[in-house]
Amino acid sequence: VTAVENAALTAWIREFARLIAEAKERLTELDSAIGDADHGSNLDRGLTAVVAMLDAEAPDTPGQLFKRTGMTLVSTVGGASGPLYGTAFLRMAAAAGAGSSLDPPEFAQVLRAALEGVVARGKAVAGDKTMYDALAPAVDALDAALAAGKSLGDALAAAVKAAEEGTAATIPMVARKGRASYLGERSAGHQDPGATSMTMLFTAAATTLSG
Ligand code: ADP
Ligand code: MG
Ligand code: MG
Repeated sequence: VTAVENAALTAWIREFARLIAEAKERLTELDSAIGDADHGSNLDRGLTAVVAMLDAEAPDTPGQLFKRTGMTLVSTVGGASGPLYGTAFLRMAAAAGAGSSLDPPEFAQVLRAALEGVVARGKAVAGDKTMYDALAPAVDALDAALAAGKSLGDALAAAVKAAEEGTAATIPMVARKGRASYLGERSAGHQDPGATSMTMLFTAAATTLSG
């Protein structure tokens, strides 16, 4: 079993920031259809601050990496997604403990803790048309693939596929949480911005942690 080192996890967070910066306009466009057109700029502001934090003094354990990332996101992102992503990373920090690396089952537990944090904070359930609809199936797919003896790379590929399918499935959903819920039935026919950004967290993991 190959451990996931702190350096690789740091590269993961940086790659997530890069993907969000690249998709900033698209995320904001999705949010303009069913929200207030700020999801891309909210997350990009937060992750730009996270990259600056990493450049200034990179944390040397996964627990510290996730804690500082979560704290930075809470204080810079705002909106609904700031506390949700912030809580996710703070729960990841608690689950990561004090060690210098995570083995694949520990990494899966860390992502399970992120899901629990999102649920504790936002009370979303499946089908509410939120980031939960990408995160929950991705975490389940990761667990299932590792339990079936797959490599971390293959398990992350399965998680990305599940997150993408979960995100596509938000299109016909009627939103029951967040600003999109104010639209009622008119929220149907649009992909959820938060599910879209959450999928990028898994895409970034597959790119940086599969080796
Ligand atoms: P705001 O809606 O405050 O402008 P953002 O636009 O940054 O915040 O984020 C919107 C995203 O947050 C939605 O697309 C959805 O995925 C997610 N979201 C909103 N409320 C919840 C909730 N209660 N639980 C989980 N996710 C939520
Ligand atoms: Mg918004
Ligand atoms: Mg907003």
